[in-house]
Amino acid sequence: MKFDYIPGATPARPQRRRLGLVAILGLSVTAGVVQLGLRDGDAVAGGQRPMSSGLHSALPDAAFTAAGGSQGEDFDGIIQTAVKDALTVPEASQWTTVSVKSGQSLSVIFDALGLAHDEVFSLLSLGGEVQRLKKLNAGDELHIRVSDDRLEGLTYALDERRTLEVRRGDRGLEVVTLTAEIERHSTEVAGEIRDSLFLDGRRAQLSDRLIMELADIFGYDIDFAQDLHPGDRFAVVYDQLYKGGKKLRDGDILAAEFTNQGRKLRAVRFTTPDGNTAYYTPQGQSLRKAFIRTPVDFARISSPFNLRRLHPILHTIRAHKGTDYAAGTGTPIKATGDGKISFQGKKSGYGNVVMIKHGSGVETLYAHMSRFRAGLSVGSRIRQGQVIGYVGNSGLATAPHLHYEFRIDGIHKNPMTVPLPRANPVDPRYMARFRTDSGTLVAALERADTRLASLTPADKK
Ligand SMILES: [Zn+2]
Repeated sequence: MKFDYIPGATPARPQRRRLGLVAILGLSVTAGVVQLGLRDGDAVAGGQRPMSSGLHSALPDAAFTAAGGSQGEDFDGIIQTAVKDALTVPEASQWTTVSVKSGQSLSVIFDALGLAHDEVFSLLSLGGEVQRLKKLNAGDELHIRVSDDRLEGLTYALDERRTLEVRRGDRGLEVVTLTAEIERHSTEVAGEIRDSLFLDGRRAQLSDRLIMELADIFGYDIDFAQDLHPGDRFAVVYDQLYKGGKKLRDGDILAAEFTNQGRKLRAVRFTTPDGNTAYYTPQGQSLRKAFIRTPVDFARISSPFNLRRLHPILHTIRAHKGTDYAAGTGTPIKATGDGKISFQGKKSGYGNVVMIKHGSGVETLYAHMSRFRAGLSVGSRIRQGQVIGYVGNSGLATAPHLHYEFRIDGIHKNPMTVPLPRANPVDPRYMARFRTDSGTLVAALERADTRLASLTPADKK
C-alpha cells in the first residue's frame, strides 16, 4: 500500500522560510560562479576580447518566485529552520537523473522508479508550471529524488533560465520556480575576406548562424554571392550568453561593419521601447528596404514586365504588367513589404489573388495561387517576408507560377527595376536614446577595426 499525504497537518510557514533561504543561497552561489566565468572569458584567444564596459549587462528580470514569497521574514528564523532541515535530510534518498525517451510520460517514469500510483496525481494537482510535466519531450531531463514509494523532490528545466523545483515539505509537495541569472557578455571580432564570408567568418570565431545574420543585415546593400573581394573587411560586436559561468550560446549581433571594395557600411541594432528591433546606420537610417525584390525564393523569372506582350493563352498583344516567377505548386509566396491585406479571393484570369496595401500609395498583387495562407483575410496585418499563400496555376495560367505586380498610386511599375525605398528610420521620439546606444557600439566596432589593422601580415594567417 502507499502513503497517502494528508495536507494541513503542520503549519506551512517554516517550510516556506526554508525554501526562501534555499533560493537566496542558490542565487548568490550562481552569481559567484558567473563572476568567475567572466574572468575566464577574458582569456578568450584569437581576435576575440570581451568588452570592458557599457554593454556588459545582466538580463534585468532574474528573480526568484515562490508560492509564498520570502520577503520580510525573520532571517534568524530562516537560518535556524534551514540548519535544522540540513541535519534531517534523509540519507537514503538519492537524486536520480532521468533522460526522457520518445513517448515516455511522467507516469511511466514514476512507475519505473517504483513510485506510488497517486504521486503523479499529487504532483500535477499543484497546478501552474507543473502542468508542463504532462507534455515531456524526448531528451528532457528530470532529476528525481525518491524515498520508498514517495516523491521527495524533482527538478525540471522549463527553459534555459527557469527551473521547476518540487520538494516534499511538511504539508506535502510544494513547488517553486527558480530563475537563474543570464549574463550577456559583449564580444568583438574582426576579419578580412580572403576566401569567402563563411571561411573567413569562421576564422574570426563567428558561428555559422552569426555569419548568416551578418550577411542578412547587409543583404540589401551587398550581394555576398557576387560582390565580395579579397581585402574586404568585417567587424562584428555580438552577445555571448552565460549561465552559472558556462557559455549557453551566442546572442544577437549588436553592431556590424562591412567594408566592401572600400565602401564602409555600418549597422547597429536598436529595439524601441514598444519592442520593435531592427538594424540602422549609426545615423538612424534603416538598413532594410521597405520591400524585398522577389516574393519567391529560388524561382526563375519566366516572363518579365512588358507592356507589349503576346499573351500565351489569349494570343493577343496584351501588356504584361507584372513579373512571372516559375516555381513548383505549393512554393511559399512571401509578402514583399509590411502592409495590410486589401483583397483575398478570386479575380477571373488571375485565379486566387492576394493584394496588400503598403504605405506611400504602394499596392502589391500576387496571382495564380494554389491556396491562401490559413488564418489570413482582408484586413490582416502582414510583415515583410511573411508567407501569404502558395504558388499554383489557378485562373488563366499555362503552368504553376506567381504573377507579381507592384503599383504606385494605381500605376503598374516593373517590380524588377522600381526603386525600392528604405524602411522607416528611427522614430524621432527615440533618437536621443538611439544616439547614445549607437555611439557605444560604433566605438566597439572601431576598437575591433584597430586591432585588426594592428595585426602584422604574418599574424593574419
Ligand atoms: Zn504574369
